Amino acid sequence: MNAAKRLEIFRRLHEDNPEPKTELAYSTPFELLVAVTLSAQATDVSVNKATAKLFPVANTPEAIYALGVDGLSAYIKTIGLYNSKAKNVIEACRLLIEKHGSQVPDNREDLEALPGVGRKTANVVLNTAFRQLAMAVDTHIFRVSNRTGIAPGKNVVEVEKKLLKFVPKDYLLDAHHWLILHGRYVCVARKPRCGSCRIEDLCEYREKTSND
Ligand code: SF4
Repeated sequence: MNAAKRLEIFRRLHEDNPEPKTELAYSTPFELLVAVTLSAQATDVSVNKATAKLFPVANTPEAIYALGVDGLSAYIKTIGLYNSKAKNVIEACRLLIEKHGSQVPDNREDLEALPGVGRKTANVVLNTAFRQLAMAVDTHIFRVSNRTGIAPGKNVVEVEKKLLKFVPKDYLLDAHHWLILHGRYVCVARKPRCGSCRIEDLCEYREKTSND
């Protein structure tokens, strides 16, 4: 795909949704960190339901640490893998209190040193909470990047690097949100809704399939 097409794709995605946001509910970097950690292999809706009850009671490292694994589990047991997630969050809270003055670190190394925080979670926090140029590639972004030809790659790190290189600079900070939302609601996994897609005329998948 050439640069002009990429530019037009993001111009349209921006036009349709000028201020894209994550669908996870949060109001502080710490709440975002917890929500993203809980969201692995779970829907944002299920995480939001749990955190809507948890955060009013406990939304700081100290308060969640005080709940303990059992106390936290009671709030998140509707979420898949809740037991290991509860253990990770409690241990992360301990480290945040002991090593980071109860603040969420704004760098990859310290974030990825927290239990349950991998590259993708760190990228979401860096990008969404701290507005740094980081690209979290989830299953939706991986699919959309490959199908459209915006940033094709065999694995998530390859796609991440290509997105950081190829997404036009003005759109880089919010590209993560646009691509997730596009993958979640339009370019869905099984049967993409090409007929109602805003970027159909620019998409390489459509070029290939319309010639079949
Ligand atoms: S045209 Fe189809 S395959 Fe291409 S981005 Fe749109 S929905 Fe996805």
